[in-house]
Amino acid sequence: MMYNVHAPRVLIAGGGLVGLSAALFLRRHGVATVLVERRPSTSPQPKARRVNIRTMELFGQLGIAEEVLDAARDLAEYQQFAAGPTLAQAERIPFTLPGGVPDWSTITPATACLCAQDLLEPVLRRIAVARGCDVRFGVEFADFVDFVDETDGITATIRAADGTVERLRADYLIAADGASSPIRERLGIPRDGRGTLGRAVNVYFRADLAGLVRGREFNLCQIENADAPGAFASVDGSQRWIFTTTEGVDRPTDEWPSVLRTAIGVPDIPIELVSVLPWEPGMFVAERYRVGRVFLAGDAAHVMPPFAAAGANTGIEDVHNLAWKLAAVLRDEADPTLLDTYHAERRPVGWYIADQSSIRTADLRSMNRESTDATPLADPIALILGNRYRAGAFIDDGSTHTMTHLDLTGQPGTRLPHRRLPDGRSTLDLIKTSFALLVGPAGTAWKADPALEIHELDQDWPETVGISPAGALLVRPDQIIAWRMPSLPPDPPAELHTALDRILR
Ligand SMILES: Cc1cc2nc3c(=O)[nH]c(=O)nc-3n(C[C@H](O)[C@H](O)[C@H](O)COP(=O)(O)OP(=O)(O)OC[C@H]3O[C@@H](n4cnc5c(N)ncnc54)[C@H](O)[C@@H]3O)c2cc1C
Repeated sequence: MMYNVHAPRVLIAGGGLVGLSAALFLRRHGVATVLVERRPSTSPQPKARRVNIRTMELFGQLGIAEEVLDAARDLAEYQQFAAGPTLAQAERIPFTLPGGVPDWSTITPATACLCAQDLLEPVLRRIAVARGCDVRFGVEFADFVDFVDETDGITATIRAADGTVERLRADYLIAADGASSPIRERLGIPRDGRGTLGRAVNVYFRADLAGLVRGREFNLCQIENADAPGAFASVDGSQRWIFTTTEGVDRPTDEWPSVLRTAIGVPDIPIELVSVLPWEPGMFVAERYRVGRVFLAGDAAHVMPPFAAAGANTGIEDVHNLAWKLAAVLRDEADPTLLDTYHAERRPVGWYIADQSSIRTADLRSMNRESTDATPLADPIALILGNRYRAGAFIDDGSTHTMTHLDLTGQPGTRLPHRRLPDGRSTLDLIKTSFALLVGPAGTAWKADPALEIHELDQDWPETVGISPAGALLVRPDQIIAWRMPSLPPDPPAELHTALDRILR
């Protein structure tokens, strides 16, 4: 047994999509991390596939969107839904959204994609290592005793597969250690929510179905067949597929090829079973996202059914929210109480998205239109882009906002609206690693402040975000609006500094 002492600023437990994203976001802010993942390699399961537009915006901020889209190229044409009695007979069904399918280019600069988790995790891991993050696979976050120390930081023990033990001290710990989070359990943080909502099984298999689905390529294909009900999901669009069903979850493994052939509708098609993974859709949200120097993120903080494809996406947004706050506190630019706003902001959003995921039906013909209970169903686009924080690191101006439809008009606590700039960039591209001030064309007086990045926008802009041509929007490094000043105050720099002091506590 060997002991070293090593001192990163932030320790990350868990190297799934959320832990790896945390390492990348913190790296962008210049924060040294150590990430430990107990598995020897990234996930062999392709579970999550939908990388939504908000996550792609965040990957855009990291400068990795192109690499992710490249990894997703196999499924670039597989965005549609299909349904039928067998895969061979299935037809495409229209994709509908309650408010109609929008002109995406007016909402976001990003492109959503389907990239199976077993392809995306290696991309994030490779980039994290290339950017100098200390990423250690095959290493377990082992010792939870006394790792919270309010004055000095965290002391943790990690153990490599060969038994080597190392003690680490860090200022903060991010628990991105998954749904059964040992760290959350150790801290005794209870969870609430709708609980377990059923049972399902993912049958992951290989079969050459490329010819069969040509011209009818699909993201999901619902099989409406009493002998083999379920849905196929494309993993690579040619050889790798997942069949998900809630029927026969406990069926012996050797019976699945026959069920798959019935669902495919080709009796003699060769099938290689890769894995059979039973799982339980459910909603569990941690009651506290922060205890002392420990922050829960991703599935450790919120588990939700996959029907809104939001679990990993929400987790990646968690750590994007947390990264700039940790960086600001570690640089002594903000009071440590800023970190309390992580729970205040992300817990209600996590709960809401998990709840919305729970009331969605898995039926592709009525998905996004029918709720399984009386809770109003949010437009999926609003669920992805349109959340508003209730309280936190921003100054609320009492403006109205609706969560069920996309309503981004410059309200503090919402994401900055996307708008194309004359040079082709998006307003979102103006936000780097620090706060930025976006002012209208008559906002010259704001420029007296040399300490802040200030961008002047054209004359159509102010109206879009509820300010006069002399007004300003203060935007956080995570592209969330922190403060809105509708008109020019008598002393703009003084007002701005008062606002920043309030936000950074
Ligand atoms: C069928 C299905 C489809 C889905 N589809 C989507 C989708 O389309 N879009 C989407 O956003 N989400 C989707 N999800 C949800 C998504 O898979 C999860 O939300 C996401 O993977 C959670 O990521 P995570 O990093 O928080 O946790 P995990 O992926 O569980 O990673 C946690 C990691 O922590 C490690 N760990 C645990 N304890 C320790 C320890 N003591 N020391 C070191 N390491 C440790 C584990 O080994 C694990 O690798 C889907 C889920 C399912 C089941």
